Amino acid sequence: KELPSDPNTDNTRRQVAEATHSYVTPKKLSNPQLIHVSKEVAHAIGLEEESLMSKDFLEVFSGSKIYPKTKPYAMAYAGHQFGNWAGQLGDGRAINLFEVEHHHNLWAIQLKGSGETPYSRQGDGLAVLRSSIREYLCSEAMYHLGVPTTRALSLMLSGDDVLRDMLYNGNADYEKGAIVARVAPTFIRFGNFELFAARQDIDNLKILTDYTIKYFYPELGAPSKETYIRFFEAVTQRTLQMIVHWQRVGFVHGVMNTDNMSILGLTIDYGPYGWLEGFDFGWTPNTTDRENKRYRFGNQPNIGLWNLLQLANALYPLVEEAEPIEAILNQYQIDFENQSLQMMRSKLGLQVAMDGDTKLIRDFEDCLLQAETDMTIAFRLLSNYKKGYPENGLELIENAFYKPEALNEEKPNLWKVWFKAYDQRLQKEELTDDERQQKMNTVNPKYVLRNYMAQLAIDEADKGNYDVVNELFQLLKKPYDAQPEHEKWFAKRPEWARHKVGCSM
Ligand code: AMP
Ligand code: MG
Ligand code: MG
Repeated sequence: KELPSDPNTDNTRRQVAEATHSYVTPKKLSNPQLIHVSKEVAHAIGLEEESLMSKDFLEVFSGSKIYPKTKPYAMAYAGHQFGNWAGQLGDGRAINLFEVEHHHNLWAIQLKGSGETPYSRQGDGLAVLRSSIREYLCSEAMYHLGVPTTRALSLMLSGDDVLRDMLYNGNADYEKGAIVARVAPTFIRFGNFELFAARQDIDNLKILTDYTIKYFYPELGAPSKETYIRFFEAVTQRTLQMIVHWQRVGFVHGVMNTDNMSILGLTIDYGPYGWLEGFDFGWTPNTTDRENKRYRFGNQPNIGLWNLLQLANALYPLVEEAEPIEAILNQYQIDFENQSLQMMRSKLGLQVAMDGDTKLIRDFEDCLLQAETDMTIAFRLLSNYKKGYPENGLELIENAFYKPEALNEEKPNLWKVWFKAYDQRLQKEELTDDERQQKMNTVNPKYVLRNYMAQLAIDEADKGNYDVVNELFQLLKKPYDAQPEHEKWFAKRPEWARHKVGCSM
């Protein structure tokens, strides 16, 4: 179509016909300032600690200076959003800087919030401090929880203000702009494959698939139809594992569109995500999804499958055989049941598999619902249980209830019945109370990034005080450890934070 003045650096928005990506220039900033840097991520990509405070680091990872011989670009992709085909999308506020190879690992580095790209549509390509703190803290927290995720290298203030419609109060307001440098082996999404399939551009579909296999699934071998089937199977397994981890820690992604599904099964795009406080399969943190609740906690496994079906459709031209693909999708459901059951067993401290376990778990979930129970706290406190004392069970988890009064009403107290069944079940296990507790504490985190915690960090950061950002970053590096000095964060959400949700923009 019409050629822009300089096709290599033109950021203006447009439909980008036939492109796989567009070269762009990050926005020049008036006064970038480093707020936080993740030393572990810096180490992983081969940066020396001394370099992190340098002017070069500040300039490169704020997008103010282009690293020599590199060419930043925004990727084109497509996707299904909230169940509908959305056509061509792309990196609207992410810019890829370069890739680094360190100790035989490949890392792609992206800036989020570095200004507009051809894919920005109605947005400005910028990110506010609020959403950047949420992504920065949560992606690192997820990593330390053992959940597959993209990671964050640095959090910077851009020095420029950004205009946003505040979802809180409906008023447009200026907020501080910020930039997160995020890191992953690759940011390729289901949507990248969907783009080429939709264009019937089978050549590029094949190039992309072969590339992805060669660099990220090398164990699958040379390109062939069989390899593509095994590739789909491997992506299915990784996606499933990621979602089982989400269910384990009570993470709700909030926008599981296919453009937000990593081909590596990494949690990607930390927008309106949230953490379960009161256990509830129907909960979603995404205020724009409150009606259908498509992306609610209990529906994440189904959506994973639905998204995989879209990926399957995109890969179909390379495979041209429906049966093996259908078998993999069917297997997902069976595997999910098994893995989910196994995960819940581990959360309850059960080592051996027994027939009645599914019922024990269902009944436990019913208990959690009876008096609005904090998921994280309940599982963590359950590890204090002593075999042979079911009558003491309820007392142990008392601090997890948001509505303890619901247990005093006439209704039968489900917990009392459940603890008896739990005790009988534990009698069939070999572990001592201490051993069981230790095991449970490796799968039931003590600390997660509750929405109000992120909000406190944001409120202070808005005033220029990063103490809470620093404190939470430290805390969430060891989410499974008792950290007596941080006991105040092992607590239910305060009432003032009940109806507050995070936002993504
Ligand atoms: P998300 O729901 O975060 O995955 O965003 C959907 C699409 O909108 C993606 O292609 C983003 O790149 C784009 N987008 C989101 N926020 C902005 C923004 N502030 N400026 C430009 N594009 C954006
Ligand atoms: Mg996205
Ligand atoms: Mg987003």
